[in-house]
Amino acid sequence: MVKKVKMELFKKAKQFIPGGVNSPVRSFRSVGGEPIFVKEGKGSKIYDSDGREFLDYCMSWGALILGHAYPEVIKKIKRAVEKGTSFGIPTELEVEFAKEITEAVPSCELVRLTSSGTEAVMSAVRVARGFTRKEKIVKFEGCYHGHADYLLVKAGSGASALGIPDSLGVPEDFTKHTMVLPYNDLEAVASALKTQSKEVAALIVEPVCGNMGVILPEEGFLKGLRELCDQYGVLLIFDEVITGFRLSYGGAQGYFGITPDLTCLGKILGGGLPLGAFGGKKEIMECVAPLGAVYQAGTLSGNPVAVTAGLANLKVLKKKNPYRPLEEKTLVLCEGLKETADSLGVNIQINRIASMFTVFFSEEKVKNYKNADSQSKKLFKKMYHSFLERKIYFAPSPFEANFVSMMHSDKDIKKTILAFSETLTKIKD
Ligand code: PLP
Repeated sequence: MVKKVKMELFKKAKQFIPGGVNSPVRSFRSVGGEPIFVKEGKGSKIYDSDGREFLDYCMSWGALILGHAYPEVIKKIKRAVEKGTSFGIPTELEVEFAKEITEAVPSCELVRLTSSGTEAVMSAVRVARGFTRKEKIVKFEGCYHGHADYLLVKAGSGASALGIPDSLGVPEDFTKHTMVLPYNDLEAVASALKTQSKEVAALIVEPVCGNMGVILPEEGFLKGLRELCDQYGVLLIFDEVITGFRLSYGGAQGYFGITPDLTCLGKILGGGLPLGAFGGKKEIMECVAPLGAVYQAGTLSGNPVAVTAGLANLKVLKKKNPYRPLEEKTLVLCEGLKETADSLGVNIQINRIASMFTVFFSEEKVKNYKNADSQSKKLFKKMYHSFLERKIYFAPSPFEANFVSMMHSDKDIKKTILAFSETLTKIKD
């Protein structure tokens, strides 16, 4: 009876939506089985259409640092909706929001709002090309920057899990200006820029990668990128769609003290509503129309409901400053998982920073796409389904980050460690 609603829903979904989902990694293709259909969320929990409660570590792919349906944010959204949902005319709220972003994110002197992370990245790359009058960009293997044609090259997460690192429908001509280098390999960057910097407009990087699972920049990697970009006149773009307001209020750039030229934001920025932004140094951002000749626009950009949610979210983060407790909670969780695995003789590596982490079923330290890809996906799948049986929802792919929110309790953490112990005992042989 319980399973029936879900199965019928998925069957129905597939009749009307490609694969039954509106974004591929939701489909459970890389873990097998069928997705759950969520009905509502509150705090650290989600509830599916069969009425089951799950402890959620996907948290809308990192968008929800305050947990689901945070009362103060919801109250403000409700009020905003009643005043009108879209104008396409400037509002005072957008100005306040932009001011808040520029105060929070070190590189952002001017900022423009978009409706998604993908748009933010597309726009930042266009600005970089317009400003430098150069065409090539450098990206790193396993980093995902949204689904713009020229960035769908070795793009991690959804693409890797499905085995389509390059998408059909993207003409070779569109990707010929994209150079792909291995993450955490400064020498490769140095040698590429040495010979080709005259053509390279920008280097785009996830300062902490979240899209091949969490992969941390090695000591000196980000600093080295900054120095090489300065040396060769190439703009440095931090794609902080995941790390923005996650690692610290100032994002990864605040956390590591490395300031890029341009920054892309999304996810947490919108407090659970569709919102992105790109920003950077004034002289660069002044290229954007109407000031400059780089065109960029959006009917719903600066949407009043999304901006209300985003601003309310940022205000809570600023007031509560939850970063330290979040980090401590996540550390307890990850240490608990690791100790459990060690005691049962199962090889795992956990990559964690602040409140984001990935469990890799791997013997060796995971520091690039190749290590991530060589983990045991069979064990991950088994773990995944055992977790689901125990009502714990992880991101449904071995190449994703999981997130701890402000609403995850000590009890939640203990429950997760216990579930992991039961799971490994069951699946290890
Ligand atoms: N950049 C990064 C680092 C991301 O993780 C994502 C999405 O997961 C994007 C860009 C694209 O953002 P959106 O899905 O909002 O278009």
